[in-house]
Amino acid sequence: MELIYEKSVAGRRGVRLPASDVPPAAELPSQYLRSVDTTLPELSELDVVRHFTQLSRRNIGVDSTFYPLGSCTMKYNAKALEEAARLFAPFHPVTPLLPGGERHAQGGLAMLHQMGGFLAEITGMDEVTCQPLAGAHGEMTGIMLIAAYHKAKGNRKKYVIVPDSSHGTNPASAAMVGYEIITIPTAPYGDMDLDAFRAALTDEVAAVMMTCPNTLGLFNPHIKEICDLAHAKGALVYYDGANLNAILGQVRPGDVGFDVVHVNLHKTFGTPHGSGGPGSGPVGVKKELIPFLPVPRVVKAADNRFTLMTDAPQSIGRTANYFGNFGVMAKAYAYILMLGREGLIEVSELAVLNANYVMSRLKDLYELPYDQTCMHECVFSASRQLQHDVHAIDIAKFLIDKGYHPPTVYFPLIVREAIMIEPTETESKETLDAFIAVMREAALLAGTDPDALKKAPLTTPVGRLDETKAAREQNVCYFGC
Ligand SMILES: *Cc1c(COP(=O)(O)O)cnc(C)c1O
Repeated sequence: MELIYEKSVAGRRGVRLPASDVPPAAELPSQYLRSVDTTLPELSELDVVRHFTQLSRRNIGVDSTFYPLGSCTMKYNAKALEEAARLFAPFHPVTPLLPGGERHAQGGLAMLHQMGGFLAEITGMDEVTCQPLAGAHGEMTGIMLIAAYHKAKGNRKKYVIVPDSSHGTNPASAAMVGYEIITIPTAPYGDMDLDAFRAALTDEVAAVMMTCPNTLGLFNPHIKEICDLAHAKGALVYYDGANLNAILGQVRPGDVGFDVVHVNLHKTFGTPHGSGGPGSGPVGVKKELIPFLPVPRVVKAADNRFTLMTDAPQSIGRTANYFGNFGVMAKAYAYILMLGREGLIEVSELAVLNANYVMSRLKDLYELPYDQTCMHECVFSASRQLQHDVHAIDIAKFLIDKGYHPPTVYFPLIVREAIMIEPTETESKETLDAFIAVMREAALLAGTDPDALKKAPLTTPVGRLDETKAAREQNVCYFGC
């Protein structure tokens, strides 16, 4: 195949090294050479530097702009955390698994053990596994633990209850473990309909999966009652703690009555994520579920040394290679240590304050379907703009032209034309005010010049993509393939 590079000019070179005065080594045997055409572009060093610098500028990230992507907690990740994680670079994941290797891996094992302890304290759980590699993986692990618990007790359970406001991964994870899903509608006040919940709660329910605050950003005042009702029927209660930012240091799911919880280190605990980047979804459990936790577990021996424990006959087994995403944990570990108890409490206070500030400054122009004090995020509807045929997507695209990453749109599914804004605690008032001004401008333009919104974005290399195709049929090849 003839490869075409638009910028390549025959003979153009970057650095020219002087001719070698060392005799050349033997050539690689041909069976080791790739058979594909390896024609490379010919460019000057400056061409290459400019090309890649320009490409990098097309990338939107939290280091370049405000990124209020609701339910994703795109907070700023301090660079010191990367430095701290690098301290663990010599920890090779195989070391503790070799004969006598635990001795050489005490630092890494200590970090894993303490990390579990920190998260247990933060969530009010008795023990935590750090193996799961993402939030959804944590959910699946948690539901597997619940299934193993019921099986060991001889309980016959068939169903998992989820509210219709839940993140799509909740019902998906429960279904993957083999449960049938019962979906409970949201009541007009924004929380799970309690009567419908009571009616659905039978002896055959294995678990109730709750997100609190839910994806509308609302804290359920009946959450303790829901846990008590579930327990009375022999069901366990699962807490989706992907967005712990809202309650960090304020409420502990374990104190409210939850039995299993997962947290997303890559959202709440200062570690970068996005585009499917590395995640970590540790799962905490109450005492009764400890025997089922994944192995190996890091335990502290009598001589204060850390060691790997695999002797757990009821364990669901491994859920990840080695110890999970170690690098992500190392950053989160540094984050927790750097902020300390007071700092973590301040995170949730500022996150909630910022969300309420944005909400109160926009609710005169945008419909707020559930008009209450919110937690870490607020959910508007572009329903008023709809009369001018302006949709949530048009406002999102307009924000791109203004230099912002758009908020989450069309989620949660129960809100028509949803715009879900999560400012996080790391943003200043000036940043929030500038964003609010642009959101207000968009609302006014919807009435005066809707086309200005419908034509956006004008500043990006490509305009409006088929969003479904872009997600489902990704083709990132440079040459047609
Ligand atoms: C992000 C999120 C998840 C899933 O987490 P992943 O790491 O993306 O798998 C689950 N629940 C809620 C509420 C979330 O916001």
